[in-house]
Amino acid sequence: MLKCIYKIVLLPAFVLGLVSCGQDVPAEHTSTLFVFGTKVEITVRGEDAAKAKAATTQLDHDFQRMHTDWHAWKPGELSNLNAAIAAGQSLTVTPFVKPLLIQAKKFEALSDGLFNPAMGALIGAWGFHADNRPEGGLPDFAIIRALAAQHASMSDVHIDGDVVSSTNRTVQFDFGGFAKGVALDRAEQTLKDLGIESALINAGGDINTLGGPKNKSWQVGIRDPKSWGVIATLDLQRGEDVYTSGNYERFREIEGVRYAHIIDPRDGMPVDHIVSATVIGENGALADAAATALTVAGPKDWHRIAKQMGIKFAVLVDDNGTVYLNPAMKARIVFNPEAKLTIVESPKL
Ligand code: ADP
Ligand code: MG
Repeated sequence: MLKCIYKIVLLPAFVLGLVSCGQDVPAEHTSTLFVFGTKVEITVRGEDAAKAKAATTQLDHDFQRMHTDWHAWKPGELSNLNAAIAAGQSLTVTPFVKPLLIQAKKFEALSDGLFNPAMGALIGAWGFHADNRPEGGLPDFAIIRALAAQHASMSDVHIDGDVVSSTNRTVQFDFGGFAKGVALDRAEQTLKDLGIESALINAGGDINTLGGPKNKSWQVGIRDPKSWGVIATLDLQRGEDVYTSGNYERFREIEGVRYAHIIDPRDGMPVDHIVSATVIGENGALADAAATALTVAGPKDWHRIAKQMGIKFAVLVDDNGTVYLNPAMKARIVFNPEAKLTIVESPKL
């Protein structure tokens, strides 16, 4: 029996999007970009239209470079590095990529290895290194098992000044589990540098906010992907970010069984049962990495991993409609009473 089998049932999964804002909100300008295979919406509050537009143009330019140089399988700096490691060589990296390697090491260690951005080979073997949903049959499990047994890990990776090498040639970087968070953190800094005090950046439901004197909270809605109705809402305060790791958008389907694009590094198999994990934090990269790690950790381990990663607000939804959350998260999330959910509250984080 496959551990990864995940049956599709009707249940609310968590996708966050901006639904409305508080009262007395200053003028807002929203622009939409298409990057990282998703729609990125930038809302700038309390600035004139020209300043908001100039900022968006800058972010568009920055995001395009990130998309190229952080890509796990298309030509760019990261894929050059992957090729060098596979060949047993070291490579000098630029300041554009090096900070991601450092963060990746840290987050992998904090998550007990459940967030593993060094196992690109496994993600590729499952067919997820493709723009479209993978088709065809199951991968060869002998290959999957053999790759998992190599334990590719960020701890195999050595950063000596700007020179990167790995003692394990099966290490292949795939930053898909936290690149959006890093990108939105950088975008947030760029907006601040441009003198913008209040903004929201929404990349397909993953959100960074920046607040300042003109700030009001940002209300975001948590949607049911089947009906796109709002099943819960929460307010994001000054500078808070929210990230969701979801198994409902990217997956492959073989004979009616869905295989998630989030892989458990311990056995190389897609995670099952957990449909989504949502984390609120003040660092997008950490929140993004944690959302992925908690999806892998599941109901038994999520609380311990969240604590270890320094997360204060987390909520997981499983394929029975059970919601696991910590008391501080429960206190700020308002569920739609019509959504049929079983709430399981954990001890404090
Ligand atoms: P989403 O894309 O739904 O927001 P994630 O942030 O969890 O979800 O990113 C999923 C991506 O992360 C996968 O497509 C893959 O590239 C990568 N990935 C899969 N499993 C892991 C894992 N255990 N650790 C780190 N990255 C992972
Ligand atoms: Mg993530």
